[in-house]
Formats: sequence, structure tokens, C-alpha cells
Amino acid sequence: MEITLETLIKAIGQYNLDFWGIEKVRQAYKFAELMHDNQKRESGEPYIIHPISVALILAEMHADIDTICAGLLHDVLEDSETTKKDLEREFGNDVANLVDGVTKLKRMNFSSKEAQNLANTRKIITSISEDVRIIIIKLADRLHNMRTLHFKKSVFKQQENAVETMEIFVPLAYYIGAYRIKTELEDLSLRYTEPDKYKKMEDLKLKIEEESKECLQEMLYKIKVILNEHGITNEIKVRTKNIYGIYKNLNSGHKLSDIRDLIALKIMVDEIDECYRAIRWIHLAYHPMPKTFGDYICNPKPNMYQGLHTTLIGPEGRLAHAQIRTHDMDRVASHGIATYWDINKGDTRTIMQEALRTRTQFVDCLTEIDSNFDNNKDFVERVKKELFSDIIEVYTKDGERITLPKGATPIDFAYHIHTAVGNQAEEAFVNDERVLLNYCLNNYDRVRIVTNPNANGPTQEWLKMVCTSRARTRIKNYLKVRA
Ligand code: MN
Repeated sequence: MEITLETLIKAIGQYNLDFWGIEKVRQAYKFAELMHDNQKRESGEPYIIHPISVALILAEMHADIDTICAGLLHDVLEDSETTKKDLEREFGNDVANLVDGVTKLKRMNFSSKEAQNLANTRKIITSISEDVRIIIIKLADRLHNMRTLHFKKSVFKQQENAVETMEIFVPLAYYIGAYRIKTELEDLSLRYTEPDKYKKMEDLKLKIEEESKECLQEMLYKIKVILNEHGITNEIKVRTKNIYGIYKNLNSGHKLSDIRDLIALKIMVDEIDECYRAIRWIHLAYHPMPKTFGDYICNPKPNMYQGLHTTLIGPEGRLAHAQIRTHDMDRVASHGIATYWDINKGDTRTIMQEALRTRTQFVDCLTEIDSNFDNNKDFVERVKKELFSDIIEVYTKDGERITLPKGATPIDFAYHIHTAVGNQAEEAFVNDERVLLNYCLNNYDRVRIVTNPNANGPTQEWLKMVCTSRARTRIKNYLKVRA
């Protein structure tokens, strides 16, 4: 299908009817078309197809007008005579700053060890705390480049791009809650990093879809009828897990039959209260698997995701995951922070930065690492380790969810709660049992720290027992003051 300006306008029209906004998008398109005149992509297509595709991905995420304009213009500073001043004059400060931000992130190479690239990687990561929309545009840019990666002539470049995508762009997509982009990027990367396994998993996914089709349709129909009977307006979709998700589970030793969300029903309703009413009727129609219920409405995930989760025992004992959420939550679940400007009207940048700061741990953690490591190489390594690798969820004694990097200890936990709790930590209890302070925490542990103002306090040894930058800084500060 050929993508044109009209495709884009239509996509924007799905959620934004601002006449002047659409005019601005048309202007940005004209400008970009003129600037990229005669340029071609490696596929041989006219260059403008790329910025239009990027803008379309942004529109599918319900991005604001300035972000979409910046998507259309994201390559003009690099590929033409245009200056930032020109963009300011034509499209205002916001668009100019966004395009400038995206341009500064160019030529980034995460897999390289060169100083220049490390500096650039640092830039891309820290730019999140300035204007997260720069990252959203960069993600859309990367997604389109990955979708068309087969046109790249160099196999080495393909591999390099795929690895970089998995190591940096997938985690970034997770942190801003853009699940749809995250899962697509994962699948596209695997296709190049593990071509054989990708093919196998692709076939497996098709087989699962085929086998579970009837079961899912039967469940969908039955649940729909019951919810309708009880006056709960609903929309239900079915899905199977993405290729990379299946691969990752099997690769870490799980059996196919143990993957609880291999097949899933997504049930969307209008109001929050209806989520809870709906789950009652659903659990009466299909028994829930014990210990699989999760309330992410009262207790959102660290990337703002909300919804009710349960695993149902479906026809013939087949397990089906079910997610119940409102339509608003569903938009956030698919596209994350990009949809926020619409829910709360106002200055887009401020609202989104505020959401990122208060509703995710990302910025806090990033700032901590940034202030800790002057050396770019150390910085990038820390981010990879603390932010971009596996995380665990643990709970405070009051049931509040805390996420920590895998390998975290009760000391990391204590400093996460408060500096004083860390400095005065004397004993730790995990699931009501006493553990050593260097105990390695597991997913879903309930952690309680006993403090004592007269406790011995942190020692040099403690530095070896922590894995978060926050704990490390606090311990060093304490030791410095004591020394
Ligand atoms: Mn581009």
C-alpha cells in the first residue's frame, strides 16, 4: 500500500479534529517534500516515504500535532540546507527544538566502543529528561528503519542495527509504555539476530493461532454475551503472544504449556468500576487459575500501565490470559506516554514530562546514574545494567510495589525507600523470614527493613552488596561524612 499525505491526515482525523493543526501538518509535509526532492532511499523509493511513514507511526500513537510535524521534518536538518532558524520561523520553537533534538541523536551507535558514540548514546538517554517527545520520534524513526531493514545491502549493518534496537530502543519503548512499538521492535530484531530461531518461532506462533482459534472465539462470544446481559458495554479482542515473547520464554527454560499469556483476550469497557464488575462475571463463566489475579489499576506498573489481569481455565482446560481495562487505559497500554497530551489538555511538553517524572521511576534513576558517572563508558554500562536489563517487583510491608534491577538486595531496597532507612538498616525480613542484608531479592518478595538509630551503619563492605546507583551514592556519602 502506498502511503500518502492523505493516509496521514486520515489517521490524525481519528483522534484530532483541529483544523489549523491539520493545516500545519500539510505545511510541514510540503516543506519536507521540497527539501528531500530527488533524494532516494536504499529501497529506491523517493525519500519522502520515510518521513511520512514516521509521521504515520506517530499518528497511530495519537501524538500531538507538533510531534507529527517534527516527524515529517526529522531528517531535513541533516539532509538539506535547512537551518534550525528556518524551522523556527516556519513552524515555531517547539517543532524546531524537536527536530534539532532528533538530529543531535543521529549517528548514534550503541554497539560501538568508540568515545564519540558513547557520548552520543549518553545524549540520547539523557534527552528523555528534557523532552520525551524526542525519544518518541526517534522510536518511530527506528521502527520504520527496522521495518525496511531488508533493503540495507550490508548484512553487518543489519545485524548491528538489530542488536542496538534490542539493547536500547526496546527498553526505551518499555519505559515510556509504548508496548505496541516494543513488541514489534523485538520481533524485527530477532529476525536479524537469530534468523533460524525466528523462523521456527514464527511457525510455532502460526500453529498456536490455528489451534486456539476456536477456543478463543468461544470464550470471546460467551464473555460478550454475559457482559451484555449485565449492561456492561464492551469491546473484546484476541491475540497470541509476540514471536520474541515466545522465544524468550522457551529460551529461559519454560515449557510452552507453562506460558500463561500465550493466548489472550483483551476486554475493554467504559468505566473503571465496570472493570471490576466485568471480572466478577468473567470469573463466574471461567474459573481463574489460582494466584494469577493482578490488580494493576490500583497498583500501576512503573511505566504507567493499568489493567486487571487474570488467567482463565478455558474450554478443554486450555489456559487463556485475560486483561480487562477501560478504553483510556488501553490507549496508554498500547502507546504509553505519547497519548497523555490528549487526556489532559494543556502544554504538551510540560504534561508529558510531568507524567514521566511522577508516574515512572525512569527519570529518577537516570538522574542518579547521570550524576554518578562522568565517564561515558561507565554511564552507558550502568544504564544497561540498572535500567535496561531485567527488573524485579518487590513489595513494601504496606503492599506498595517497588521495581529494582535483578540482583538487588535489602540494602538497595532500604535506600530506595529513604536514605535514613538505608543508613539505619539493621535487619531485613523477606516474606516474614529474617534474611541477611546481602540476600538476593526475588520477584514478588515482601520486604521489611528494621531500622535502629544506633545501628552500626553502612560500611565499605556494603558497597559490594548493592547494585543500584542510588544506594551506592548514599553509602559513599555516609562513609565520607564519617571519615
Ligand atoms: Mn530518519
